[in-house]
Amino acid sequence: MSSKRDYYEVLGVARTATDDELKKAYRALARKLHPDVNKDPDAEAQFKDLSEAYEVLSNAQKRQIYDRHGHQGLRAGGGGPAGAEGFPFGDIGDILESFFGGGGQGGRPGATRGSDLRTQLELTFEEAVFGCEKELEIPRWENCLICDGSGAEPGKPPTRCTSCNGSGEVRRVQQSLFGQFVNVTPCDRCRGAGQVVTHKCVECNGRGSVRKTRRLTVTVPAGVDNEMEIRLNGQGEGGERGGPSGNLYVRLQVKAHPRLKRDGADIICELPLNVAQAALGAELMIPTLAGEETFRVPAGTQHGHEFRLRDRGAPRLQRSGRGQLRVVTRVEVPANLTEKQRALFTSLAETFAPPPAAGPPPNPAPVTDGETGAQSPNAADGPKGKPRKSKGIIDKVKDALGIDGNE
Ligand SMILES: [Zn+2]
Ligand SMILES: [Zn+2]
Repeated sequence: MSSKRDYYEVLGVARTATDDELKKAYRALARKLHPDVNKDPDAEAQFKDLSEAYEVLSNAQKRQIYDRHGHQGLRAGGGGPAGAEGFPFGDIGDILESFFGGGGQGGRPGATRGSDLRTQLELTFEEAVFGCEKELEIPRWENCLICDGSGAEPGKPPTRCTSCNGSGEVRRVQQSLFGQFVNVTPCDRCRGAGQVVTHKCVECNGRGSVRKTRRLTVTVPAGVDNEMEIRLNGQGEGGERGGPSGNLYVRLQVKAHPRLKRDGADIICELPLNVAQAALGAELMIPTLAGEETFRVPAGTQHGHEFRLRDRGAPRLQRSGRGQLRVVTRVEVPANLTEKQRALFTSLAETFAPPPAAGPPPNPAPVTDGETGAQSPNAADGPKGKPRKSKGIIDKVKDALGIDGNE
């Protein structure tokens, strides 16, 4: 790209070449260099250069700028070869568009824009967050290179349609109750083209377009989310008779992450805590976009509490900065207690009970009556908890739940 070849040299024409000469030179070289025909690895780059040269020189205004200021002038004036807007995609579609005069100007009669195409692209959670490049294979109709979309065998150009005299439309004057009016419809014989093919192009069987499967590279920007759509301009079906190509719409399907969720640019992770961890505080592992890391939960953490870590979320799409990492606690109350745990909870319950009026009752705390059916089916298996020992209740809970929280 740094040492650009002279456009006239690329096309092999004199600086005084007429539009017709340019076109001829371009067509001849394009047939030779088109990546579909020429498998030489350099051919694609050469074809690209060729198309670029032709696009500039075939445009009177751009040619003038180029003649005066060279490549520099085009860059400065913003008159460089048009690319796809938005994202840097595979170049073939753009090239074909310039080759076949897409973009609407000077379209032949009957030229129609190609249909839009839709496809889906599956991304992992991380690919959506961080962005990625993906290859797509798109089967689509493209303008036939051999006949240049006319459907006629080269050298046997289509002839003017006699039904419409080349206009592509038929005018019929009709009488009605409200007077005379002219009804204009596309010509049946030439389907609006104004021309009739006498010798069909062998390559495309007169259709003017051929079925191709294209490999495209899609650049997925960081921060996209499920169900978003990326538009690839000019990568849809080729237009008919020199009409511009349609667009390709790529809908993103982002796979779920086992432990992380998205809320816009925020990343949410749920942090399960047992009652002891919630009460005493703990150091735990949490999943983040950068992998697992330790996270300190303070003593007395409540269920459903949200810790917010700034700038640890996903990049904001089309803006700067990142969202937050939100760590939401889920305190899990044990459903099935071991004998030891039951004893400890029983003791614990006593400490929460209001101070006894006189002597403590022999069988304390109504909490022990916890095996009333459905919620803890296994609890009935264990014998009744034994109350009281003198060891600190907190230590006992720690022992039972296997926490070495000595802070
Ligand atoms: Zn053809
Ligand atoms: Zn006709």
